[in-house]
Amino acid sequence: MNEYDSGKIADVLRASEGMEQTDNPEEADVILFNTCSIREKAEEKVFSDLGRVRPLKLGNSKLLIGVGGCVASQEGALILQRAPYVDLVFGPQTLHRLPQLLQACRDSGRQQVDISFPEIEKFDHLPAPSLNHAEGHQTTSGMTYVSIMEGCSKYCTYCVVPFTRGEEVSRPFADVMRDVQVLAAQGIKEVTLLGQNVNAYRGIYDGGDTVDFAFLLQAVAALEGIERLRYTTSHPMEMTQNLIDVYASTPKLVSHLHLPVQSGSDRILAAMKRRHTVLEYKSIIRRVRAARPDICITSDFIVGFPGETEQDFEATMKLIDEVGFDNSFSYLYSPRPGTPAAELRDDTPHEVKAARLKRLQDRIMEQEEGVAQSMLGSVQRVLVEGLSRKDAQELAGRTDNNRVVNFSGTPDMIGRFAEVKITQVVRHTLRGELVSEPS
Ligand code: SAH
Ligand code: SF4
Repeated sequence: MNEYDSGKIADVLRASEGMEQTDNPEEADVILFNTCSIREKAEEKVFSDLGRVRPLKLGNSKLLIGVGGCVASQEGALILQRAPYVDLVFGPQTLHRLPQLLQACRDSGRQQVDISFPEIEKFDHLPAPSLNHAEGHQTTSGMTYVSIMEGCSKYCTYCVVPFTRGEEVSRPFADVMRDVQVLAAQGIKEVTLLGQNVNAYRGIYDGGDTVDFAFLLQAVAALEGIERLRYTTSHPMEMTQNLIDVYASTPKLVSHLHLPVQSGSDRILAAMKRRHTVLEYKSIIRRVRAARPDICITSDFIVGFPGETEQDFEATMKLIDEVGFDNSFSYLYSPRPGTPAAELRDDTPHEVKAARLKRLQDRIMEQEEGVAQSMLGSVQRVLVEGLSRKDAQELAGRTDNNRVVNFSGTPDMIGRFAEVKITQVVRHTLRGELVSEPS
């Protein structure tokens, strides 16, 4: 989501101010930090990064430094107290107002703060989607993101998102469709529909009725030029049968589902206010697998939530064994100021939590390797996204089930689909050989 927002920030400043991006901070007239506050560590990083660019103001009196994103949203003007050399603070929902904020800084010489939630206004004030994003995707990579909803109204007891990004707001159906059509016309073949809880999507349709996420997925899949569809991220309580049925009816929807579960203990799920049980989660997975037998499931886990006992943790390990996950984002619980869980008693020692996290990650890594081994010898359709990160002589493509495969090929294949045979598994990364020229 932040990568996407950074791309939009670059688009806005390019369109309105004629700015160009630079990799060299010493050359910059404006330096913006797009921040994350989901865990404490990410938040602390912002202040150390800010300290590093501060001396640049000495050499360039015109330099403006801004902080955006969720730390900005959470801390607001407090950022200016802790780092008085910061010129502006803007939130995830006010990034479209950057040109005015920058101008106000220049005109008045005063610091500016705008962390309001003007809801969907943002999308009406952003330039048309383009592929010249800042996030490092090559313009030719064939894939991009499209935001379909913003914010979250679930209020899980540990999470800052509803406070920093505001409540759930869906973009109108026609707006999302128009964005995807514009991108498809520019050569995009794969889109990832993006939001904090995409499956909570309720978009206004032409006549004023609302349509759900299952409807949107099918409509996007039917657009000319779109060959593959992904989405992230989703909540188990919004995983309707309608949506599960799309896995059976719509082959363009990939065989990968990221469905965060956080814990395998009903007691902890209730304390987190996740609003579903372990049995309900397993029932969703069973039905998704009935609709799409080869699907890979990935998830998010929080280890060491206040009051998590050894028994609760064992229940999480049991769920991991029962479901079989191909990858996870798993972290230690981080108390966030202002959230209900931050008030809970937490007397599990850090070392105990860290040992649990390691056990969980080792187990998922084994499962990940198992999935990789099962792909050995198979022929996969990959979208060639760019050069390999490790070896610029190689290409990197992504399989339907979200695995990166490195293989030999020529850069003209980037942005196209190719058939690749998986020949080698090194731990859990895949290597392959091209079996047919890209279509
Ligand atoms: N809306 C998505 C997740 C968005 S936040 C969902 O509910 O599934 C991404 C992930 O960050 C969460 O799934 C959770 O695992 C993690 N996370 C959020 N708050 C956290 C906290 N206080 N400590 C540790 N991890 C946290
Ligand atoms: Fe945070 Fe996700 Fe819960 Fe929303 S549903 S509060 S984003 S963890």
